[in-house]
Amino acid sequence: MNAAESVPVPPEFAKVFSRLVRRTQVPGGRLDPQACADYWTALRDVPMDALAESADALARSEVFFPTVAEWRRAAGPPHAAAGAPCPTCAGQGVVRIAYKSLEPFDLAICLCRAGDVYRRFPDAVLRARLALGPEARIADLDAFEDPA
Ligand SMILES: [Zn+2]
Repeated sequence: MNAAESVPVPPEFAKVFSRLVRRTQVPGGRLDPQACADYWTALRDVPMDALAESADALARSEVFFPTVAEWRRAAGPPHAAAGAPCPTCAGQGVVRIAYKSLEPFDLAICLCRAGDVYRRFPDAVLRARLALGPEARIADLDAFEDPA
């Protein structure tokens, strides 16, 4: 993301975010300095109260810092949002590409804002977090062919 696209992070969110960083383990040991702005960009349609409450709940229940999708889920059902979530991934940022029911699935990272956060995590972190086998492919959504 270049600087022109980034959205100013409100101080309330920066506080909630850094509090959650202190109270959980960050996958890979440290966060990208841009992470707070990325999370804000992906979560800004969620009311601040819901973000703060869910951050407290996540800090109590989770070992690891949440992905955007986990945080969004913890914040509750979709809120009447200024912008509708991405229709491709429903705001989750990732789409599972399943071929046959018993085969391992691949993971496509959506091209929308919610996917931006996943692009910053190393593949190994995503595999561990999403229980992906080593044979699963992780790539941007446009790298996958549409099934004919
Ligand atoms: Zn999407």
